[in-house]
Amino acid sequence: PLPLVAIVGRPNVGKSTLFNRLVGKRLALVDDRPGVTRDRREGEGRLGDLTFRIVDTAGLESAAEGSLEARMRQQTEAAIDEADVVLFMTDARAGVTADDIRFADLVRRAHRPVILLANKAESRAGVAGSYEAYSLGLGDPLPVSAEHGEGLGELYDALRPFF
Ligand code: GDP
Ligand code: MG
Repeated sequence: PLPLVAIVGRPNVGKSTLFNRLVGKRLALVDDRPGVTRDRREGEGRLGDLTFRIVDTAGLESAAEGSLEARMRQQTEAAIDEADVVLFMTDARAGVTADDIRFADLVRRAHRPVILLANKAESRAGVAGSYEAYSLGLGDPLPVSAEHGEGLGELYDALRPFF
């Protein structure tokens, strides 16, 4: 089976933008059960010669039971649990927020391999902002720009060992 990659992080850091970039049109909306899985987008991602299953956590569009916070945590935990590698994303422009720290704690507790992505790093300010993510204790932040397709070579190098 293909390795499973989960994109995790607080809302608005750019997870879906990266998902769309890696998946393109090869989107598979697999599960229509109510609850957790409805929010989850899964597809076949490609980066260079690497092919993988990839999950975008976040979609908070649909109404369901439970607080937003609880549902997000549940969905994120489920995705992390199944993942061979977690892409933990922060926003290099916004700096590290309390929500980043909460999500990072979930990832740390799961003891899964993590690649730390500091997104929106397409400008000099963005690259400088990416250093702040060191404080999350999830390793070296990789500056990327999901929107502009920058840093994907470094992401490739980081993903390669999981294949
Ligand atoms: P999600 O909530 O984590 O899935 O974030 P989205 O993918 O929906 O993106 C949130 C916002 O950030 C959108 O307005 C995106 O256009 C923007 N965004 C995503 N990636 C980048 C990036 O690399 N650079 C900049 N400047 N904006 C980005
Ligand atoms: Mg999203």
